[in-house]
Amino acid sequence: MVTGLPVVGTQRRLSVPQDNKDSDAVSLPPGYRLIGGWDDGEPGPRKSPNFGPRRDGARPDMVVIHYTAMKSAYAACEVLCNPESEVSAHYLIDESGHVVALVPEELRAWHAGAGRWGAVTDVNSHSIGIELANDGFSPFAAAQMDALTDLLKGIRARWDIRPERVIGHSDMAPGRKIDPGRRFDWRRFALEGLVVWPDAAAGDVARFAQNMHAFGYTASVDPDLLLQVFRLRFRPYASGPLDAVDAGMIADLARRFPVDVNAAWA
Ligand SMILES: [Zn+2]
Repeated sequence: MVTGLPVVGTQRRLSVPQDNKDSDAVSLPPGYRLIGGWDDGEPGPRKSPNFGPRRDGARPDMVVIHYTAMKSAYAACEVLCNPESEVSAHYLIDESGHVVALVPEELRAWHAGAGRWGAVTDVNSHSIGIELANDGFSPFAAAQMDALTDLLKGIRARWDIRPERVIGHSDMAPGRKIDPGRRFDWRRFALEGLVVWPDAAAGDVARFAQNMHAFGYTASVDPDLLLQVFRLRFRPYASGPLDAVDAGMIADLARRFPVDVNAAWA
C-alpha cells in the first residue's frame, strides 16, 4: 500500500496511452530505452516530448480517463515518452498509485484522438488526459484508484472542471475506444463528487438517443453504438435490448447535466 499521497509533478511509474492516432498498436523502435529511472528500479523524472499548445486559446475544461492496455506501466511510459509514438497523456498512474506527470496541464497532450463530446471536437485541446496502467482485463488496484481520486481533486481545484465533464475515452470515441472499460468504478468517483451518476427511474426508450446527445454523446447517432457506449459506463453488465432503465438513467443525466450548458465556456 502507498502510505503517502502521490506527488504530482515528480515522478513515478506509469502506464500507457495509445491514442492520438487512430492506430491501436504503437511499437517501440529497436533499442529504445528510458533515460533515467526505472531501469534500476528508481523512477526518475519523466517528460514526454509529445505535446503542443492548446489550440484557439482553449483551457482544460474536461478530463478524459484511459487505460493503457499494456502489460506494464513501464512499457506504457516508454511509449508515452517516445517521440515516434506521437501519443502522450498528462499523467500516468501505475498499479501502486504512483503518479507520473508527463505533460504540463497547460499544454495539449495527445491522448484523445478522433471523437467528440458535446460541441467539442478537439478534445485534446480541451482536456487533461489520465492514463491508468491496466492491461484491459484486470481489476484496478485500490492504490491506483486512491491516487486517481487525489489527482482528480487537484485538477478540479486548479481548473474548475465540472464533474459531468470528467469522462471516459469510450464516451467521446464510441466504436473506436473502450477504455477505461467496464471494470472502472465510476460510481465510486461519483460518490466523491468527481464524476456524475444517474438516479434510477423508468424512462421513455423513444427519447434515448435524444437524451444521449443532450448529455454529451454527440460522436455517433447509431442506436446500437449509443446503447453500447452508455452501458459500458453506466450499466456495464446489462444485456439485451434498450430498456426503460437505460432510458431513465440517461434522461436523468440529460436533465441535470446538459452538455450544451457547459459548451458555452468550453
Ligand atoms: Zn484511451
